[in-house]
Amino acid sequence: MEYSILAKSFEKMESTRKRLELTQYLVELFEKTPQDVISKITYLLQGKLRPDFEGIELGVAEKLAIRAISKSSGIAIKKIEEEYNKRGDLGHAAAIILEQKTQTTFLVESITVERVYETLFKIARLEGLRSQDMKIKYISSLLNDASTLEATYILKILLGTLRLGVAENTVMDALAIAYSGNKENRKMLEYAYNVSTDLGKVAEVIATDGIKGIEEFKIELFNPIRPMLADRVKSEEEVMEKMGNEFAIEYKLDGERVQIHIEGEKIELFSRSLEKISSYYPDIIEKIPKIIQAENAILEAEIVAINENTGDFLPFQELMHRRRKYKIEKAVTEYPITVNFFDVLYCNGKNCIELSYIERRRKLEKIVKENEFAKYIPMTIAKTKNKIEEFFENSINAGSEGLMLKMLDKPYQAGSRGSHWLKLKREYRNELGDSLDLVVIGGFFGKGRRTGSYGTLLLSTYDENTDTFPSICKVGTGFTDESLDQLYQILNPKITIKKNPRINSEMEADVWFEPELVIEVVASEITLSPIHKVAQDEIRKNAGLALRFPKFTGKIRVEKMAEDASTDEEVISLYKGQNKAARDKNLIE
Ligand code: AMP
Repeated sequence: MEYSILAKSFEKMESTRKRLELTQYLVELFEKTPQDVISKITYLLQGKLRPDFEGIELGVAEKLAIRAISKSSGIAIKKIEEEYNKRGDLGHAAAIILEQKTQTTFLVESITVERVYETLFKIARLEGLRSQDMKIKYISSLLNDASTLEATYILKILLGTLRLGVAENTVMDALAIAYSGNKENRKMLEYAYNVSTDLGKVAEVIATDGIKGIEEFKIELFNPIRPMLADRVKSEEEVMEKMGNEFAIEYKLDGERVQIHIEGEKIELFSRSLEKISSYYPDIIEKIPKIIQAENAILEAEIVAINENTGDFLPFQELMHRRRKYKIEKAVTEYPITVNFFDVLYCNGKNCIELSYIERRRKLEKIVKENEFAKYIPMTIAKTKNKIEEFFENSINAGSEGLMLKMLDKPYQAGSRGSHWLKLKREYRNELGDSLDLVVIGGFFGKGRRTGSYGTLLLSTYDENTDTFPSICKVGTGFTDESLDQLYQILNPKITIKKNPRINSEMEADVWFEPELVIEVVASEITLSPIHKVAQDEIRKNAGLALRFPKFTGKIRVEKMAEDASTDEEVISLYKGQNKAARDKNLIE
């Protein structure tokens, strides 16, 4: 397939933010796409080469791309940098530069999607000493044969700056229309996506076998399932209202969620954001296969750090010590863990997500043989508020964060947050009623004791509708010397020369970061703000929402992606809830 078809589609898509138009452009693109390239196109559309869980990163730095443009065009690096500074986007700057190309090539090979994809794949795979030179060679050879439009979009993919604003749902709408003529079939595609986390695969199945292929879509081992999430509740009363007569209550342990795929000796661990995390937990890899009484299974558990002497649960932060590449064996002995199972999604070749909660829990208790290292999360069946209170007390005393409440007769809803699972946390009872997971977008240099670190951070939520990160507050309290140091180490590699275009902030920071790191923050209140951008114009014209007295809780949420951070909708709902609570209080007083 000609790459120019794709580049033209990208250009059209970039020119609109309207979902219907985007869908239409995607349908037109899919109609021109042969079956054997559809998965590649689907990944490229999202600026990827493979699904995220495979961990294939292009990782081409701006400097390297500039060198490749210079090599291909014969134009000096300085000139390219100037153009880049003017345009703010290297892809567009390259288009201007390449227009003025001084080196002309005569033997122009036409560029196909396949060639671009294969070359990008090779670049992603390059490692080692000579890899930089090889990368430049590959990139410049593509640019040599590319038109200016094609070059723009090759560079944008390489640099990770392609932002078409096509959410997964929009891609699925378009796939349903293009291959089944009916947008309503999106629901079925969603199921396939939720159990595979692989939109390229879903696209390939529908393009090849039509909607029938999607109906028969199967869960596969070592292909992660998107996790089911819980709605929050603030009180036992709310639980009783929402849960009905009888329900399960489990401890909500403060650790790292893990999805364990296992077949015989082969085992792989996926984090909550479905990254492979097996290398951090060699103890799980070694010990878990021995206690699983099934040929194969997909299980969910919470990994929790423990105090070896007392067996008490320790906070999530302790697990951070495991996130290292080297000397992991040392970390394994210094920071022991337990694995606490709470669900089974697949067992002995059969899908279990359609089973009810209680059937799954019974199955789980059959498959996993408990020992010192592996346990089931404590669970009880409850009918009354008193029982919830009692279990809540016990869970807090055992070092957990609160409770998870689960409907007994409901299946596992992959990839969705809903009311079949609820969470009741200890913090929910404090001032604001909840903690927020926010993205670190900017930093301000520290003074005094904090020199050499970022004394204050600029934070944002995630706005799902516009795929942007609107600022919500600056936070400068709650840090310890250790956490400041840790944050500095994590944030430094994320510094960018220019503010990422997805960041929406009027406030100027000393440095901007790639919006990637999520931290947990509590606050006393949400207020209207003329500066911050969350929910801009939603509550009042020319105002957004901001946090008052924000405080870092000490939790760096490495397991969350920026897109998993608290959303504008969540902040709006907290804002409204807080105002209602204030009104109720005034009425009573
Ligand atoms: P939150 O991150 O606050 O949205 O809470 C959901 C997280 O709680 C999950 O992603 C799990 O990591 C964790 N968790 C702890 N205990 C449980 C449990 N019993 N069932 C499900 N998730 C749990």
